[in-house]
Amino acid sequence: MKTTSYWWEAAPRIETNCNSIPTLADVVIIGAGFTGLCAALSLARNGVSVVVFEAGVLGCGASTLNGGMVGPSFHKLGIEGLQAKYGEGRANDILRESVGFVDYLEDFIKTENIDADFIRNGRFRGALKPSHYDAMAKDLESLKKATGVDAEMIPKSEQHLESGSPRFHGGVVYQKDGGLHPAKYHDGLVKKVLDAGVVIISQTAVTKLKKMATGYEVTTSSGTLNASQVAVCTNGYTEKVTQEFRRRVLPMRSAMIATEALSPELIKELMPKQRVYSDTRRVVTYYRPSPDGTRILFGSRASGLKDKPQSNADLLKSFMTAVYPQLTGVSATHVWSGLVAYTFDHAPHIGQFGGKDGLFYAMGYCGSGVARSSYFGTKLGLKMLGNASSETAFDDLIFETAPLYNGNPWFMPTILAWHRLLDRFGL
Ligand SMILES: Cc1cc2nc3c(=O)[nH]c(=O)nc-3n(C[C@H](O)[C@H](O)[C@H](O)COP(=O)(O)OP(=O)(O)OC[C@H]3O[C@@H](n4cnc5c(N)ncnc54)[C@H](O)[C@@H]3O)c2cc1C
Repeated sequence: MKTTSYWWEAAPRIETNCNSIPTLADVVIIGAGFTGLCAALSLARNGVSVVVFEAGVLGCGASTLNGGMVGPSFHKLGIEGLQAKYGEGRANDILRESVGFVDYLEDFIKTENIDADFIRNGRFRGALKPSHYDAMAKDLESLKKATGVDAEMIPKSEQHLESGSPRFHGGVVYQKDGGLHPAKYHDGLVKKVLDAGVVIISQTAVTKLKKMATGYEVTTSSGTLNASQVAVCTNGYTEKVTQEFRRRVLPMRSAMIATEALSPELIKELMPKQRVYSDTRRVVTYYRPSPDGTRILFGSRASGLKDKPQSNADLLKSFMTAVYPQLTGVSATHVWSGLVAYTFDHAPHIGQFGGKDGLFYAMGYCGSGVARSSYFGTKLGLKMLGNASSETAFDDLIFETAPLYNGNPWFMPTILAWHRLLDRFGL
């Protein structure tokens, strides 16, 4: 079993050379995932000189490790919680804008002509208990009212048309969700960013940021430069060098497996419409066919913060056969994992830290960042330009931390274990 991403088979990571570091740039971006690259593109195409630093090889972060499933992620925001916290008007604006993330991504990929196997084949989310189905139906009613989202409830009697899993008590189909090949998308983005004149320096970590009279002195593992503005686009990989952000995000490890090639008949039985899939577990599981329709890619939260391939593969196989008993005995050819970033209010965050000083950020996608990070990255670039079209309904959400939390989520494995126990009893 390989311990690298299945996506890297069709789009291998390339050991890029370390460009020499310029001494000056208008903007430094930390992190070359979707957020950093999209921000770089919108800045560079508006005449700004940009240097992107990436600590590892290009695409070593979550952006080429994810399930490639795209959607607005309503259930993470929680419509009632949002309305209680921000009021109905603001919450509805946030939800409506979220519906547009996938439209934005589709449009972007088409306009830029990026070959990323993008498809809008819909998402089926299965209800693990009848009570989950009822709660979903209630939620969907409010969502439709607030956003007009194109989705429908699928009762248990019709579920076989959507899923070959015997586990569910009906579910919901979000018609406009979909999937892409994340590593091909990342490679396409890198090309566009380089064509726009951005300097990308990989295998070079930013190690210190010093506020100067104007802008920042940026120290890296290979040299120093000065920039007027800095964008922190490090999401689940946020480190002590930007401690003000590290203490606002909760890194969690998410892992995936790819099965061996399956017969077309079996894939058709398990995933009749070849959509993307998830369910109502607290510790989310997500799954989809590979873009060529030959395998199942299955993911969930990993057992801890460290990468433990064998125990992740064992855990995921047990989750997978619980959903699809038909896959008992099927082996995995790949297992891999990466870090996502949760936030204390379950919402992603974007802005300028403290509203001044030129330190910008976009992060905290709570495990659903393929469409969100592309959208937020682009908006972030526009914000740094001072462009009015950078406005979003997510502006000014308070980016909370918690007392005594310093960025080390030592308590998360216990919380995860508790949630898994609740899942086991369907609570
Ligand atoms: C296994 C897995 C499955 C997922 N599945 C889905 C899915 O199906 N759908 C979905 O919407 N989302 C999914 N996600 C989440 C999604 O991948 C992320 O939200 C998104 O890719 C975040 O992009 P980003 O650019 O903000 O961060 P990343 O892509 O993580 O990039 C951050 C980069 O910052 C770099 N960095 C950190 N510190 C420094 C420093 N000091 N100097 C230089 N560079 C630095 C890191 O090396 C890293 O490459 C999944 C994530 C994982 C791990």
